[in-house]
Parts: sequence; structure tokens; C-alpha cells
Amino acid sequence: MGDAEAFAREFRPVPPARPGVCRICHAAGPEASGAGSSGPRVTGAGACAGCRRTIGGLRGHTEHVVPITLTARNTRLYDVVTQRREPPGGRRGRLDLLAATVARFHQRHAACLERAAGGPFTLVATVPSTRAERPIEAFDPMAAVVARVAALAGRHRPLLLERVDSEPGAAAGDAFRVRGGGLEGARTLLVDDLFVSGARVQHAASALLAAGAAAVVALVVARLVEPAAADPCGAAIWREAGRRPFDFVRCCVCDAAPWEIT
Ligand SMILES: [Zn+2]
Ligand SMILES: [Zn+2]
Repeated sequence: MGDAEAFAREFRPVPPARPGVCRICHAAGPEASGAGSSGPRVTGAGACAGCRRTIGGLRGHTEHVVPITLTARNTRLYDVVTQRREPPGGRRGRLDLLAATVARFHQRHAACLERAAGGPFTLVATVPSTRAERPIEAFDPMAAVVARVAALAGRHRPLLLERVDSEPGAAAGDAFRVRGGGLEGARTLLVDDLFVSGARVQHAASALLAAGAAAVVALVVARLVEPAAADPCGAAIWREAGRRPFDFVRCCVCDAAPWEIT
């Protein structure tokens, strides 16, 4: 576990949804206007411009995105998650690091995730790589990560496939389709490695919900923050997260400590 400990040293805590923090992605400021008349239902805190843009054209989306850590460009964590840099052990080492992180987080916060889903998960899904030039079986890293997490592996099904444009019946804008059926009423934990705009996760959630899933909760290893971007809330969140020690004991669902984001 030495490598996993070193990997986690760069983690930064994720703020709970609150005024100043997007209720969906936890890492950008909600739009000042709050609930737009054409936007989705807003409960409590608002959603950031990025999330609103991402979910705007979709038939369904998840309100529940739970990142384990924040990250920024030009960090070792970001480089490892995005495969710009090989950790010790290469590709297998990377899968082991992500799996150890997901396992450790899930062990502590399964109840936080299940509460958002309305009950225990009956299904675990992963977002397939969108690098179409590679055969999917040879390059579905999140499936390989979940296979290494004992608590989740038994419920994982490789359901999501990239949609081919010519496919009949696919709504415009859908990036994924669901293979097979039998999702009626499924409470689904959707696992992914990096959340940037949320497009991958939200397109996957849309496909799962359209196939009958009752709930989708997204667990993502890292949420990318753009501290230099025009969003002053994102910069403030990144600063404040840097001042707080990361601890697997808390997550953005159960963290009761006050966050000073100004
Ligand atoms: Zn957001
Ligand atoms: Zn928690």
C-alpha cells in the first residue's frame, strides 16, 4: 500500500454542496442567477454553468456526482489519472492505485453513496474509454479498476458502449448506449476516473436512466479544477481545499465542517 499512500498525499478534499459550490460537480461556482426558467429543477445550491451546459441537451442526468479528490493540471495526480505519466508499475500500477483509492473510499462512504441512490446499489457500471481507435476490451481501464475492488466487482456489468452515429433509435447527442437490458429499477453506481466537464458521466447517466435505471450515482476519482479560469468560485475552492488536510474519513456528502469559500 506504500504506493497508494504516496498517491493519496496529493489529494485535496472536495467541498460539500453549499452556496458558492455547484450542487452537482462540487468544484465550480453556481451561476449567479440560480435556477434559470429553462434549466433543470434546482434544489438548494445551484448548478455551475458547466454542469448546466452539459445536462441541458440530455434526456436524463444524475444530480449526484461524488468526487474523491480535487485535482488541477500540472500535478502528478492529474498526470497519473490522465496517463500522461506512468506510476511505479506502469499501466498495472496505475490500475492498482485507482482501485486502492476507490476501495478505500467506498469502504468509508458506501452509505453516503447509497443514500443518494435511495438504497443499496444493485449494479456497478463504468464509463468506457472514448478512444475509439483502440479495441474496447483492450482498453477499458475503469472496468479493470472495478474488477480489482472486491466490494464492487461482483455487481459490475460492462453495459455502456460508445454509440455509433448511424445507429437507429439513438437520440441526437447521446454518446453511449446500453448493451442488453434488464436495468429496470436498478440503482447504479457509475465509476469513472476523471471529471472535467462531466460530459462522459452525464451522457452515461442519461443512457442508463433511459434504459430503466432507477438511480445513478457517479463516483469519480478526481474532479479537475481550473483555478486560473474565469470562475472565481473555482479558484476559491481550490485554495480552500489546499488549506485543508485530506482525510478518507470525510467526503463531499458527509463533510460537516464549514467551508469558507469567498
Ligand atoms: Zn457543476
Ligand atoms: Zn461520506
